[in-house]
Amino acid sequence: MSETNSTEKNTENSTPTNFIRNKINQDLAEGKNDGRVHTRFPPEPNGYLHVGHAKSICLNFGIAEDYQAPCNLRFDDTNPAKESEEFARSIEDDVRWLGFKWEGEVRHSSDYFDELYNFAEELIYKDLAYVDEQPAEDIAKNRGNFQTPGKESPYRNRPVEESLEQFRKMKAGEYADGQMVLRAKIDMSHPNMLMRDPVLYRIRRLHHIRTGDEWCIYPMYDFTHCISDALEGITHSLCTLEFEVNRPLYDWVLDNIDAPARPQQIEFSRLNLAYTITSKRKLTQLVESGKVDGWDDPRMPTIAGMRRRGYTPQSIRDFCKAVGISKVNSVSDMTLLEDAVRNHLNDTVERRMAVLDPIKVIITNYPEEKEETVQGKNHPKDDDMGTRDLPFTRELYIDRADYRESANKKYKRLVKDGEVRLRNAYVIRADEAILDENGDVKELHCTYDPETLGKNPEGRKVRGVIHWVSAKYAKEATVRLYDRLFNVPNPGAMDDFNEALNPESLTVIKAMVEPSVADAEPETRFQFEREGYFTTDRYEHSADNIVLNRTVTLRDSWNG
Ligand code: ATP
Ligand code: MG
Repeated sequence: MSETNSTEKNTENSTPTNFIRNKINQDLAEGKNDGRVHTRFPPEPNGYLHVGHAKSICLNFGIAEDYQAPCNLRFDDTNPAKESEEFARSIEDDVRWLGFKWEGEVRHSSDYFDELYNFAEELIYKDLAYVDEQPAEDIAKNRGNFQTPGKESPYRNRPVEESLEQFRKMKAGEYADGQMVLRAKIDMSHPNMLMRDPVLYRIRRLHHIRTGDEWCIYPMYDFTHCISDALEGITHSLCTLEFEVNRPLYDWVLDNIDAPARPQQIEFSRLNLAYTITSKRKLTQLVESGKVDGWDDPRMPTIAGMRRRGYTPQSIRDFCKAVGISKVNSVSDMTLLEDAVRNHLNDTVERRMAVLDPIKVIITNYPEEKEETVQGKNHPKDDDMGTRDLPFTRELYIDRADYRESANKKYKRLVKDGEVRLRNAYVIRADEAILDENGDVKELHCTYDPETLGKNPEGRKVRGVIHWVSAKYAKEATVRLYDRLFNVPNPGAMDDFNEALNPESLTVIKAMVEPSVADAEPETRFQFEREGYFTTDRYEHSADNIVLNRTVTLRDSWNG
């Protein structure tokens, strides 16, 4: 058992197989698609990517890597109302940051507007599409419902020439927005509502981020997506389960045009994460209402937010691998994500000391002017990560939680008249606590044992070890402590998820950190010993203004 587990763990780059990979293997064995594999990731640039998209990215680009095949990045930009350049750039950044490379240039559905238009005319010529002039309400009403078949439009059987002429006039801008649409002629009593003569084109006078005002008609998703896939030679078009009902339409379009290739759509289950939201629409609301500080607020489940919080690309990829690919909808635990982050950071980041809630320690038997440099290992297990110098002085800071006037034996820190080891330095004894007017410790007077640097004291055991910084050399830092953004496991299911926002999701404190933290570049990650993993802020951190975000605590805080 442990044997198998360790082998699985060691083959870090191999991805567990899944039904999609099995299907690809089968297609390759049968010589389908001329033995090619080609995937794509098709985001709509109407928001920042979230952790759910990360799953799709890891799946599509991961398959491409493993099969040495290309994966395209294609912006599904057929809905100009909500799309922006900022979103498009952020998506490119996120994919690159996760460690993936798309094939060639970034593609856009809008690159294919001419071809799409021609395929629409092809369908009209084949009498498989028609211009419908019914008002929108009638189109909706006449679609019927699950119990009732739809009613055919009076325009359904108009001559091909007439539809063609009207469609061309639609394109030429001769009609008002919404005045008419192009519909596929499929089956108004089809059990799948999407097959009841779906709309293929609508008139909308909207400025498009790429094509400007060139078009006043825009193709619908179901028409655009399959054709874009075919034009790019995509072999396996992977999407989430809610598109299962769209698959017959995907196939119908490609079966009825002279398509340059025949991709197939395969659905997998969405990633859902407990205690958060994975819907762009709802995340947009959070941003626009100012409940969070932008799309890359470290509390957000966006890739940009996770990056700013200090998650690593590998930890997100490891998490996606652990979640796996299936057709069963499920909710993943936040612990799974955070453990992936901890595991990776534990192995890779340097240790530092930081005191988050400082009280001053004065070592009364340490000479006033004396200063020493002690060494701290940057990583307890990885000697290649080297050591660093730590200034040791008469006045230090330790954390308020590391001292008590009295405590039982379980408390292995500093107690009045007791001893503790200062990590990387000496053993000290607490002699006297000076209290402020509220009775809180203001200052601790201690004595140190000069014989205990790197050595155990003579004749007695000191078991506790606490962290500290030199009061003279430590730097003040702004530290942001993050907690869960929502107080309920499934905020997305609420009528108003704002009611579940955790008012304590962000706490900002002033901490004292080792001087070397000031010199760290933005986005440098550390473990602050005994405190957790932290990163210097991507945008705000500098040597004169140290800003740190807590990435994750050392231990799981979700269960128990
Ligand atoms: P949202 O519902 O958040 O707006 P979307 O599906 O509309 O998401 P797109 O930009 O269209 O967002 O998504 C790009 C790709 O990412 C699609 O193939 C989509 O299926 C996939 N995707 C989106 N959300 C998830 C998720 N939670 N889990 C896995 N894949 C997802
Ligand atoms: Mg979508």
